[in-house]
Amino acid sequence: MTERVFNFSAGPAILPEPVLEAARSALWAFEDSGIGILEHSHRGSYFTKVIEETVSNCRKLAGISDDYEILFIQGGASTQFFMAPMNWLSEGKTASYVNTGTWCKKAMKEAKLFGNVHVAASSEDKNFSYIPTNEEIKWQSDSVYAHYTSNNTIVGTQFTALPSAPTGVPLFCDASSDIFSKPIDIGAHGMVYAGAQKNLGPSGMALVIVRKDLVESANEGLPSMLQYRVHAKAGSCFNTPPTFGIYIMGEVFKWILAQGGLDAIAKINEEKAGILYSFLDESAMFSGTTRHDSRSNMNVTFRASSEELEAAFIKEATAAGLPGLKGHRSVGGMRASIYNAFPTNGVTALVDFMKSFEQKNK
Ligand SMILES: *Cc1c(COP(=O)(O)O)cnc(C)c1O
Repeated sequence: MTERVFNFSAGPAILPEPVLEAARSALWAFEDSGIGILEHSHRGSYFTKVIEETVSNCRKLAGISDDYEILFIQGGASTQFFMAPMNWLSEGKTASYVNTGTWCKKAMKEAKLFGNVHVAASSEDKNFSYIPTNEEIKWQSDSVYAHYTSNNTIVGTQFTALPSAPTGVPLFCDASSDIFSKPIDIGAHGMVYAGAQKNLGPSGMALVIVRKDLVESANEGLPSMLQYRVHAKAGSCFNTPPTFGIYIMGEVFKWILAQGGLDAIAKINEEKAGILYSFLDESAMFSGTTRHDSRSNMNVTFRASSEELEAAFIKEATAAGLPGLKGHRSVGGMRASIYNAFPTNGVTALVDFMKSFEQKNK
């Protein structure tokens, strides 16, 4: 098949078509070099320009000051789950986490290898179907950092307001599934990290935005590859970095800038998710699974009135060119992942399909 379909996959996920077009040509011969982007030395002039541009466009996109390092680190968000505590936590010290789902539980499990974990709030009592309010979050005031997951990819919830950490405690965010989907106040954070495969590019790496003073004060004596200061000092080229991933991320940043930046993309994302949620609110067969004030604009989770109907729906949707709608294996139901690159007409196509499925199965 050469035609592209509306891919609702949660990650690796859909990428902007202009980015894929650029990559297709860069793969063969990058700019005027006669060498494909995959074949360029990470220390040569062509790739050096790519990484520098990617960093500067990242700064431009989110208004990131020079007080922050922008790093590209291998191993996805899951490596950040242990690398962050390894760098700042230690025996006798505590890190606070807001537990809003599976990814956060995985992050806490890793942190426990290095020190104490304080659960500042948890929505596990209601299957993670909501985001705790700022009043409900009880950070431990002497935490080395305060961690939250801005968008919960599996259950489909998203923070709409920034959690406020105690004075002097750096706020850490796993923003893997909603980074650059709306404006983000980097200055309010000590660190923001994101696995690339939802909103940024290919899997296997993470974008890490981290305050320079934290990098400098991090624990010593760790393996080189697991120290932020080593990556920072080497401009993410301590070893051979994931050059293709960095190239694609750079193209994605250019694409977001061309869309009008984060304000513009946020508006489009609001609209897209709104189309789907309005339909879910009026449908007799389908319903959303998360609390209204906690709904994610990136991962829209929903159920049908029976599991048989859900199975039939997923199967027929896939056959109709709408693949990737099966919910995560841990929660069932359906999930439409509609990241930055997912087009609005794909969302209306899904709603049209749901309407006719509902009619047919009345
Ligand atoms: C996908 C995801 C991860 C895991 O990312 P990997 O790159 O597979 O390690 C972590 N956190 C969140 C919120 C995610 O959506």
